[in-house]
Amino acid sequence: MDPIKGSVSIDAQNIMPIIKKWLYSDKDIFIREVVSNACDAITKLRMVNYQLAENCSVRVEIDKAAKELRFIDDGVGMTEDEVRTNINQVAFSGAKSFLAEYAKEEDKENSGIIGHFGLGFYSVFMVADKVSIDTLSFREGAKAVRWESEDGMEFTMSESGRTERGTTITLHICEAEEEFLDVWRVREVLERYCSFMSVPIYLDEIKDEDVKVSGEGEEKAEAPEKRPINDTQPLYTKAPQDCTDEDYKAFYRKVFREYEDPLFWIHLNVDYPFKLKGILYFPKLKEQFGGIEGQIKLYSGQVFVADNIKEVIPEFLMLLKGVIDCADFPLNVSRSFLQNDGYVRRISTHITKKVADKLTGMFKTDRESYEGFWPDIHPFIKYGIMRDEKFAERMKDCVLYKTTAGKHMTLEEYKRENGGKLEEKMVYTTDAARQDAAIRLFTERGIDVAVLDQAIDVNFVSYMEYSAKADSKFRFCRVDAELDSLVSEEEVGALDGEKLTGLFREAAGKDDLAVEVKALANETIPLMLIEDEQTRRFNDMGRLYGRSEFNMPAKYSVVLNSRSKTIRKLAEREKDERSVLLTRQLYDLAELSRQPLEAEQMTEFIRRSMEIVDIAAQL
Ligand code: ADP
Repeated sequence: MDPIKGSVSIDAQNIMPIIKKWLYSDKDIFIREVVSNACDAITKLRMVNYQLAENCSVRVEIDKAAKELRFIDDGVGMTEDEVRTNINQVAFSGAKSFLAEYAKEEDKENSGIIGHFGLGFYSVFMVADKVSIDTLSFREGAKAVRWESEDGMEFTMSESGRTERGTTITLHICEAEEEFLDVWRVREVLERYCSFMSVPIYLDEIKDEDVKVSGEGEEKAEAPEKRPINDTQPLYTKAPQDCTDEDYKAFYRKVFREYEDPLFWIHLNVDYPFKLKGILYFPKLKEQFGGIEGQIKLYSGQVFVADNIKEVIPEFLMLLKGVIDCADFPLNVSRSFLQNDGYVRRISTHITKKVADKLTGMFKTDRESYEGFWPDIHPFIKYGIMRDEKFAERMKDCVLYKTTAGKHMTLEEYKRENGGKLEEKMVYTTDAARQDAAIRLFTERGIDVAVLDQAIDVNFVSYMEYSAKADSKFRFCRVDAELDSLVSEEEVGALDGEKLTGLFREAAGKDDLAVEVKALANETIPLMLIEDEQTRRFNDMGRLYGRSEFNMPAKYSVVLNSRSKTIRKLAEREKDERSVLLTRQLYDLAELSRQPLEAEQMTEFIRRSMEIVDIAAQL
């Protein structure tokens, strides 16, 4: 053929510089684009002649000395005409429509996602100052073609010396991008984007020694058998019945570089109405208090698209780890497409449903395992319930409450067991050790106390009350906010409430301290400090969101037990030095059972305790 010179398109001069600028933050994707084209070329060959394509592969060669990165495949190749249409026209128009879509969406928030969507072949000009294509089509009588361009705007086409079927794309890497000549850097990008591509991909570094003739008399060492960097049949592409537990765990460890096994998993395998495959894993919680960092990798036909695309995967599912492959998912799509597309929404709904099905299924048929997993999965389930109405609808009856005695109960079970002793309430503790004294008051009456001590519980408790039917009076009460169920029906003689109020206000140094006298069932407890549930929750939430400056002053009241001998004595006795001493001690003791005393108060408490010991010793 006679060499041809040409310009890719009239608009090219305007477009290439913008492409380069636009994608500066995510240059890596050029590797994905070129390698996936090479894989496609081999897949096409498979379709026309399976045998011919049997041992085909893609080779990525790094040649530092020549500053070249080469992508070599033995796929279908291209005829001269195909280069003209596929490269000069089609590929470029792809780049053009990409810009038409994205250049509008200038806001920063979008730039992350945009970078992940490819520009096709032309993305190579982000890193190369000279690009050539040498290709020979599989078609009979085809001639090899060479296409060259320095900027993606002007090109030349001529005959190529290539004799083997397939295509080699050679990038002369520009000075500023020499990191792409580093084998670790290229490997890292290949592993990210090409790990599951369906054709074996090999990475080679051309070293000086490879070029030199091997030394005389020296035995040339046998080259170690090369392994492809990718897994051409990732586990999720297999049928669930062909996968063992060990397969799932090994896949998890490899893909997420995890040492710890996942709790359990869901294998998604849908053919209709859309194609969707994948595995979602429930990870073990890392820290005791709810640290979960999920990762959902999205693939399209075994080509990596991006991590954590929230339009496709409901946000709360991002706490899981997994791979999702939507074969029909286009690689080049805009964010507005994702947000408005019915197909994407259906995928998202389907995934949510599958996750809920797995959990409710386990709850119904294997409650023991479900309870075992509960400490690790409850933050996820609670978050999902608060975030997603449909998920909440499916999951709400499968929420467990772990009690201080280690039982796991649903809300219904709790109501059934405790309904006779509690009215429309669940009592809970946020700190079983600190609130032990208050917890015992309930447990000794046979009332179950739920442990809700995770950060998410602060919101969850309010959500459950708020989302309950309008006629429901059901409330959650912390152990130190609830007394009604601890009151005794037994009649006891009235006490001088005014006198007691005066004594305790003086002891606390608060004129407006709320003091109540009640007959508590347990007569060994002289008094309790009760904190208002709603105020405390509001303040807990403030702390959670780092907005403590808006906190309200804590609302306490002192409840004196009219059935306690100590309180009765105090009420009957004339106010004197000793009754003041006793009141102070009682008040501090009540505070102490809630939280550690302030330094000064503690010193005073100890001093006073000594005094009381002295008095006792004199008796
Ligand atoms: P897309 O892959 O989205 O179609 P690209 O810009 O990446 O767009 O590629 C344009 C076209 O060039 C491809 O569709 C294909 O027909 C052709 N092509 C690119 N690379 C190769 C290759 N290695 N072997 C054969 N054809 C190729």
